[in-house]
Amino acid sequence: MIYSSDRSSFMEGRSSASERCAEALDTINAKAELGAFLHVNSEGARSAAATSDERFAAGLARPLEGLIVGVKDNISVVGQPLTCASKMLDGFRPLYNATVIERLSDAGAIFVGKTNMDEFAMGSSNETSAFGPVRNSYDHERVPGGSSGGSAVAVASGMCHVALGSDTGGSIRQPAAFCGVYGLKPTYGRVSRYGLVAFASSLDQIGLFSNTIDDMQEVFRVIDGHDPLDATSVHHAAESAAELAAPRIAALPLSRLDGCAPEIVDAYAAFRERLVGLGATVDDVDLPHSELWIPTYFILATAEASSNLARFDGVRYGLRAEAEDGDITTASRSAGFGTEVQRRIMLGTFSLSKGYGEAYYTKAQQTRRLIREAYDRTFESYDAFALPTTPTTAFRLGEKSDPVSMWLSDYFTVSANIAGIPALSLPFGHDSSGLPIGMQLQGPMFSDERLMSLAKGLAASA
Ligand code: GLN
Repeated sequence: MIYSSDRSSFMEGRSSASERCAEALDTINAKAELGAFLHVNSEGARSAAATSDERFAAGLARPLEGLIVGVKDNISVVGQPLTCASKMLDGFRPLYNATVIERLSDAGAIFVGKTNMDEFAMGSSNETSAFGPVRNSYDHERVPGGSSGGSAVAVASGMCHVALGSDTGGSIRQPAAFCGVYGLKPTYGRVSRYGLVAFASSLDQIGLFSNTIDDMQEVFRVIDGHDPLDATSVHHAAESAAELAAPRIAALPLSRLDGCAPEIVDAYAAFRERLVGLGATVDDVDLPHSELWIPTYFILATAEASSNLARFDGVRYGLRAEAEDGDITTASRSAGFGTEVQRRIMLGTFSLSKGYGEAYYTKAQQTRRLIREAYDRTFESYDAFALPTTPTTAFRLGEKSDPVSMWLSDYFTVSANIAGIPALSLPFGHDSSGLPIGMQLQGPMFSDERLMSLAKGLAASA
């Protein structure tokens, strides 16, 4: 099984990119019942691996030469399908690469295929995919989390070294926690969104899954940076990864975990102690307005989604359905979008409509500012904020059938997107059934490198 990339073994001739690639493709095949991939790029990956081996032999290896990467199916890769796990885009092949794909490819990465996800990245369990669910590799009757469930399972089960995902409200961190891998949602604007199918543009961010922080750091260095093709991309010099001698950590008080599974509470207490063991000071900080996280997120995310998804009308973009009454748009959108996507479009349309916009959308923009300011004030005195990633470990397929209980499972993750700050989920032990637990570190804007070094320190002290 491929785990961390250890590409020095390629350099020293102990193994080759082609061998590793064959191993990844075999694993994808052998574990097809997990549903992690929607499309496997066998030919393309083999030929890229052969090129990598030639480059190693010629001493021309690029920074990520031979690194095997899975790509969430809402990110554009030329020559591979792009479906967003929706019937709406079935059969579509994009004409250009996302900027992240260009950068990774120039650095020598190998793309093994497109990973399964919740339809248009809306969901927390990967059950809204039009092409079937993804199963958690620890327990096949359980969900992998979502929406980037395929990417999380692909990394957790040795199908690739790292995988790209997108995180609008937790879609990288929550599946990372459920699957026992690292997941990073970078600072908004650090990684170009060009070529990512938009869900909620002011919250969306491309990020990644890995089994080690070393792989995460290497990949982040390549995909980070300004892109003229993304208007929200920021100019920012990379921050030094220097470790803080005595990090000051603000931590969510244990008393705020009343809805959480007892084993999550215990793990969180142990996480705080581990931070103290690293030389950190850990203080309870009850961020104000946390009761507004979920409502603010779901109003903003659905409003932006209703606007972004308006382009799929069966005329300009997307599946075209026959309509006896001539209303192609209604017929196409009813046939192409699943229930959760339709629910979000209706909610978003409602909260933007005349007469309700003030009461909902404008209010949510105001509460967004309050949430941001609460983080700003906290980060005046602290280097990071610690909290669990999820209230429970992976739940069973079909267990959460009402949308609200599903939405509440995002309680700990959505605020980082609302504020635009970086956040990282790290594996932190298992519950008594052996299911992985994830803990989360959030930091001020542009502190991505610092969060990764903190996570590395934690792993080393385990
Ligand atoms: N689970 C959240 C939602 O359904 C987050 C999704 C995401 O980050 N793409 O909206």
